[in-house]
Amino acid sequence: MTRAQRRVRTQVAVVGAGPAGLVLANVLLRAGVGVAVVERRSRAEVERRARAGLVEHRIVEYLRAHGLADRLLAEGTRHGWCDFLCSGRLLRFDYGAQSGGVRHWVYPQQLLVRDLIADLHEAGHTPEFSLPATRVHVDGAGPARVECAGLDIDCDYVVGCDGPHGVTPQALPPEAAPHDGLPGTGPAPPGGLDERYPYDWLTLLAEVDRGVPGVVYAVHEDGFAGVMPRTSRIARLYLEIPAGDATARWTAPRVHERLRTRLVGAGAAVPRLGRILETGVLRMRSSVRRRFQHGRLFLAGDAAHVLTPSGAKGMNLAVADAADLADALIRRYRYGDEAHLDGYTSRRLPEVLRTRDLAAGFLDLLHPQGRHPADRRAELALRLERMRELAEPGAAGAAFAHWYVGAGPELPVPHTSAPREPTP
Ligand code: FAD
Repeated sequence: MTRAQRRVRTQVAVVGAGPAGLVLANVLLRAGVGVAVVERRSRAEVERRARAGLVEHRIVEYLRAHGLADRLLAEGTRHGWCDFLCSGRLLRFDYGAQSGGVRHWVYPQQLLVRDLIADLHEAGHTPEFSLPATRVHVDGAGPARVECAGLDIDCDYVVGCDGPHGVTPQALPPEAAPHDGLPGTGPAPPGGLDERYPYDWLTLLAEVDRGVPGVVYAVHEDGFAGVMPRTSRIARLYLEIPAGDATARWTAPRVHERLRTRLVGAGAAVPRLGRILETGVLRMRSSVRRRFQHGRLFLAGDAAHVLTPSGAKGMNLAVADAADLADALIRRYRYGDEAHLDGYTSRRLPEVLRTRDLAAGFLDLLHPQGRHPADRRAELALRLERMRELAEPGAAGAAFAHWYVGAGPELPVPHTSAPREPTP
């Protein structure tokens, strides 16, 4: 330790200021639990990092009940249907109706992150930005510790919310490596829980002449294309590309041409696309750790599990992990309840595995050529039938709708304030 090294003591040290870390820190702080948050990137960087946009109903209810959703409720929009497009045939899936009137909120992740940082500041804490954690110590006697350049945080517990490549997942023992099945959670997809798909997605942010009214999932002989609402001027787009393809190969004219081909027949659901503002490649994989905890270290969000964006579940699961862990830590400090904290993995893992399986099934629906390139037309016809089954009122559509929109299970209620009235 250098002489300039600062040393602070708190109850819970949180590594990473994404949705998981910020929700956890806000809820703990409001319940009187001491927290310290460190974040590798600058505040400006995390507040402009555009990723998710579809927020589940139950997540919004949780944030609202904790007083963390004021701007989301004021500025977000609600969406309850999506279009399936299969080789030019359009099927509207009214998942809001099929789930009993429950709808998504559309609110860009970077705006939620911005709001949660402001909420945290208001509650008396500002994360240490531009300060990567370099090591965590959770074994042995004495307090746990997070080491950063120039700062050591001694604490009772470390919560790793630093994504899959952060330092906290590295502190787990090898037996917590990605999981290949849990009794009673249904069959794992081929290849176990560390799954690499035979295609990637090009991820784009593009200008639009008006807001996207509903998500479009287009399956075409040429490949998959997706259009997601974000704001009245910007849409998130996905384009299936060969696995390993480089972003540089996807010039704007080529992207526009492929979108035109794959979105033929989408009609009014796709506004006129303008300038492409951001292009990236998402290597399509999912990975779930066997354990989300080790001693006094707990992992939440992408640090514990990474799913493909097919069901738009990553950020939602991250907040659901944070909600469970916040509840368990508050019980620990209020009532000395260690057992509930110890049960964190066993409560969260089944839901994560179930979500992983459903997202994998949805991905299969959207990628016929990924599995059977020789039989593409027959596979497309089969996909159209499966889409029809979802879109028509019935058990299959209702089950999928509940999962997709996040109609349940409910997340822990606040310990601090009385629940507010639910959103109609
Ligand atoms: P992150 O948001 O990744 O936050 C982790 C933080 O930890 C980062 O700020 C990082 O800088 C910081 N960090 C890393 N290492 C360190 C260190 N050593 N020290 C300190 N800090 C560190 N999910 C949905 O639910 N719905 C969607 O519609 C959706 N769409 C998506 C679209 C795209 C293109 C992508 C890429 C993802 C999408 N997701 C979606 C997934 C979602 O964005 C992630 O699952 C979510 O960000 C996970 O939140 P998190 O807090 O666990 O991790």
